[in-house]
Amino acid sequence: MIITTLGTNGWFDNENGQTMCTLIRTKNYTVILDAGYGIRRTKPLIDFSNPTYLLLSHMHLDHTIGLHTLDYLQFQLPLTIVVPAGQKQAFEELVRPPYTNPWTKMVPEGSQLLDTEDLASVVLPFGITTLPLQHPVPTHGYRLEIEGKTVTYLSDTGYCENAVTLASGADLVIAECGALPGTVKGKENAPHMEPEICAQLAVETGAGQMVLTHFGAGAYTTMESRMKAAAAARSIFPNLVTGVDNLEIVL
Ligand SMILES: [Zn+2]
Ligand SMILES: [Zn+2]
Repeated sequence: MIITTLGTNGWFDNENGQTMCTLIRTKNYTVILDAGYGIRRTKPLIDFSNPTYLLLSHMHLDHTIGLHTLDYLQFQLPLTIVVPAGQKQAFEELVRPPYTNPWTKMVPEGSQLLDTEDLASVVLPFGITTLPLQHPVPTHGYRLEIEGKTVTYLSDTGYCENAVTLASGADLVIAECGALPGTVKGKENAPHMEPEICAQLAVETGAGQMVLTHFGAGAYTTMESRMKAAAAARSIFPNLVTGVDNLEIVL
């Protein structure tokens, strides 16, 4: 599979990147993690003859603002959209007039909106486990079993037990790094992580590799600040990759 970090900014777009979106391509299907403005970059990359699954971590705008470009993407097959438990109504309130077109008009007929509780009764072509994360609004992390590999997506969250559970033994952990080094006080209550906390999580869970994403646009104002922060954390966990827009990881 090919994993591409198409949008690696938290909060807002700036010259360093676009808001959150990660693409996972396999031979038979596509998974999109979050729908910040980075989602527009999926268009030339997706094989539209394959089904696509769009998994949303939460409804914060840096993860959903790109939903109003769904009609630009022109999916050919029905799309499956997954939101955290209880968030279907919030999705439908956001993706509708007068803000944008109704979501059902932007995707092919037969597309479905599920929440994480519906997943128990749905057959997907990959394994999926979801757990709530530590963030001010309902937020879920995803652990995906794809082609014999495990990919975990943790955004947005502070360090928490469920993040550890989801990341345990994963081949790749895509972890949010919203905060600058040294700014998270009391990691068990924080809404975001910082590079060293991410690296410690990777060590604790025995992860194979970790890519940092969701660099807070207000905190990481230059690319150098991302690189420097991740370089320091790499002394804790060497297989730590600094996420930048359009970075490809082959698993
Ligand atoms: Zn965010
Ligand atoms: Zn958030």
